[in-house]
Amino acid sequence: MARFRTLDDLGDVRGKAILVREDLNVPMADGSVTDDTRIRAAAPTLLELADRGAKVLVLAHFGRPKGQRDTRQSLSMVIDALQHVLGREVMFVPEIAGPVVAQTVGILSAGDIALLENTRFWPGEEANDPELARAIAANASAYVNDAFSAAHRAHASTEGLARVLPAYAGRAMQAELEALEKALGEPEHPVAAVVGGAKVSSKLDVLRHLVGKVDHLIIGGGMANTFLAARGVDVGKSLCEHDLAATAEAILAAAEAAGCTVHLPYDVVVAKELAANPPSLRTCNVHEVAADEMILDLGGQAVEALGDVLKTCRTLVWNGPLGAFETPPFDAATVALARTVAALTREGSLVSVAGGGDTVAALNHAGVAGDFTYVSTAGGAFLEWMEGKVLPGVAALEAPAR
Ligand code: ADP
Ligand code: MG
Repeated sequence: MARFRTLDDLGDVRGKAILVREDLNVPMADGSVTDDTRIRAAAPTLLELADRGAKVLVLAHFGRPKGQRDTRQSLSMVIDALQHVLGREVMFVPEIAGPVVAQTVGILSAGDIALLENTRFWPGEEANDPELARAIAANASAYVNDAFSAAHRAHASTEGLARVLPAYAGRAMQAELEALEKALGEPEHPVAAVVGGAKVSSKLDVLRHLVGKVDHLIIGGGMANTFLAARGVDVGKSLCEHDLAATAEAILAAAEAAGCTVHLPYDVVVAKELAANPPSLRTCNVHEVAADEMILDLGGQAVEALGDVLKTCRTLVWNGPLGAFETPPFDAATVALARTVAALTREGSLVSVAGGGDTVAALNHAGVAGDFTYVSTAGGAFLEWMEGKVLPGVAALEAPAR
């Protein structure tokens, strides 16, 4: 990865207007923010710039207003939560460019923070219209992108601005890029990847990319069923994409050619229905699944064997739960392996990076998210990175070689 500029390269910002793209697309219910994780992630960059005396202009999108002003999706709805997390007053500006923003910059003192309106009210945002980017840029002297989770989109506020202003990674973006680089860019080998979740079809590109990158590919969750079925195992009523048998075979062949060991479960937890602690619950060898049973989690022996594999590894990247973790006891394998990863990370023998909406929920459920080296909440951007794609918002930050 090329070197990218950070806030350390920004120099003296006293009295200067700095645009900062954050991810403030937080969940809301009854007019209040129900989860302020993203706001808390934004705080270090905003407070650092304010403390360095900048006039901080915060840009973000909110919901899907489709290029039109819609008061129900105004970013003014998050201002209370933002002020609460920052512990500072934040001015709201119902525009992102033009004379109103120019006047605001005139009024702000060094160290003040203003939140601009939802970027997606303007059709030029998602179209990445260079004219909109130039209009936004006209009121500032630098651009900081702190929203990795929006970096897979080439929008005016995530990519276009970096073409018209000196561009820098914010602290959250920097932490994310450094963690991802350690996990799949220039990782210490042996490297293991855990890929789980519901379906192979949603993660084909992830699997194809990983077989060329990692030494051990651990496949769990519903997608393991597709691989087992492709190998001739009868998976009964399990969630399984039988039409992807040839694709699964091709991935296994590519792994073998690349020297990547693929780990499929050999014991599994099955039941006749997906319900909490069902009477039909049992653990069996993968070859003993009955026609009316579903595989809902990995078995204890498989988890133990995977733990032994991870003990030999230096780096782990994890996306996707190993079982239907929302329903007990089908969370057991995910929780047990997550605890092993947490322990190995604490001991300093493993760099562990995880991401994905359900994966983050599962690690929180296991109570170990804080023990991983890095947990990405970026969702779509994290998956595109696992597919080996270049994210336009990240590429735009890369400095020319010195
Ligand atoms: P992420 O959001 O972390 O990328 P996914 O969305 O791909 O993960 O997958 C998560 C879902 O996969 C969970 O809802 C979980 O219940 C489901 N899942 C995992 N294993 C199984 C299984 N054996 N059978 C059915 N569903 C499963
Ligand atoms: Mg999901």
